[in-house]
Amino acid sequence: MKIAVIGGGTAGYIAASHISKHFPQFDLYHIYDSTIPSIGVGEGTTPYFLTWLDKITNLSYEQLEKRCHITRKFGISFENWGVEHEKFFHHFYPVGQGYAYHISAVEIVNLLKEHVCATEIDSNVIDLQSNGISVKIILANNTNLEVDLAIDARGFPQSFDENYIKLSWIPTNRALIRQVPGIDDHTIDLKIGSHAVKYQTATRSIARPHGWIFTIPLTNRTSYGYIYNRDISSVSEIETDFDKFFQAEGITYNGQAKQVNFPNFTVRNCFDGALFKIGNSASFLEPLEATAIGCILKQVEAISHWVLRSFAKLEKRERLDESQLIIFNQYFLNYVYKMSLFVGWHYAMGSRFNTKFWEFAEANFYQEIENLENKTLLEKFYSVLELAQRSPHPIDNFLEFSSTVAETETNIVTALIKGVAKLYGQWTQPSFTEVGYGIGYFS
Ligand SMILES: Cc1cc2nc3c(=O)[nH]c(=O)nc-3n(C[C@H](O)[C@H](O)[C@H](O)COP(=O)(O)OP(=O)(O)OC[C@H]3O[C@@H](n4cnc5c(N)ncnc54)[C@H](O)[C@@H]3O)c2cc1C
Repeated sequence: MKIAVIGGGTAGYIAASHISKHFPQFDLYHIYDSTIPSIGVGEGTTPYFLTWLDKITNLSYEQLEKRCHITRKFGISFENWGVEHEKFFHHFYPVGQGYAYHISAVEIVNLLKEHVCATEIDSNVIDLQSNGISVKIILANNTNLEVDLAIDARGFPQSFDENYIKLSWIPTNRALIRQVPGIDDHTIDLKIGSHAVKYQTATRSIARPHGWIFTIPLTNRTSYGYIYNRDISSVSEIETDFDKFFQAEGITYNGQAKQVNFPNFTVRNCFDGALFKIGNSASFLEPLEATAIGCILKQVEAISHWVLRSFAKLEKRERLDESQLIIFNQYFLNYVYKMSLFVGWHYAMGSRFNTKFWEFAEANFYQEIENLENKTLLEKFYSVLELAQRSPHPIDNFLEFSSTVAETETNIVTALIKGVAKLYGQWTQPSFTEVGYGIGYFS
């Protein structure tokens, strides 16, 4: 069997290293155009990434720190979201123990490269022609390569046709990125009730008049990204507010900022039986909950379980069952929809700023979710919210619990959510409870 991965960004290297590791029997081709830079952002992960990376590289925390400048991410600290609370925290569970990494987008690719065993082709791909059972890859020099399965990780689509759906309830579409070298203290102090909680590291998400700023701390630098809507605010408004923020934080900046436009979208069908779209070529959501890498892992593991495993037993590939293909596509479509509703909902109570952006963001969420074609998903979303409101706040339980039985290894949140929590996209019910109280949607 011949498999091709097209793309040399995070998604392409995740797919190529995963297949190299778990399916060494395939003839793997890794094709990318080195003259097209990868997007170069995407440094916040979710906990499952640790498990996956460990299987691929088997490197210790210290080795990863040296190679990829990682820091631990215990969750996201939200500041100025909603009007009730100055700050709230969205944890990884179990609270205080579950964590992911912040990781250098450049170095993770360099590291994964070492774990790819493939025929590398540095060429522009002009076209991918799929008939549902094989894919003809047309390369720039007019040569072709025919493969049994192609994974398309070429980044944002060049154009959008009827196979793409706009996730219009997300109110942002551009980022301005600044990087500052060498920040040592990444500690975040939070007050929860009368308890002071210290986190070594977390992503910060700070609401600002024109959107919000993320901070991602690595051991050698911190990245700051101002996420905003280019149809509402001008670059100079963003730069001015960014400067104001830096000044208040005591940060000096004299670098060259980078601008990234992004569409919030999903493909309707990510897989036609031979051509599978992953990463930014399949869907994109603004980075408020840093969902993209988790989604790439899900895509790569899903294709491995369903398709690659069965290919491994075949001499010659067969056409996949049409009804299973429909279910597969529907699953990923709903998965992205669910994530987008959760992310969009963060804007539902506005912020501490009464500005054009926040007025738009809040109203836009309620207005646009009504256009969601799958009404059952929306009903499900509201029922998850109802359940989350009735459930105890994970942090209250954690603090009460930890003062009595902290010595035991018992996992409070697992206990708390057992039997109740079901995954909604990447999240369980405690996430809805924390964010719902945090933004003031639940009181
Ligand atoms: C501001 C911002 C912040 C983000 N933060 C996070 C975060 O914290 N966490 C997270 O998980 N995600 C985040 N993301 C999402 C992030 O973009 C993705 O995680 C990830 O980088 C996926 O990129 P990709 O590999 O799909 O595409 P890209 O990085 O764009 O790579 C595309 C690759 O395809 C190749 N290519 C393109 N066209 C061709 C062609 N015709 N022929 C051959 N090769 C081609 C290019 O050379 C390139 O190597 C963020 C995104 C933005 C915009």
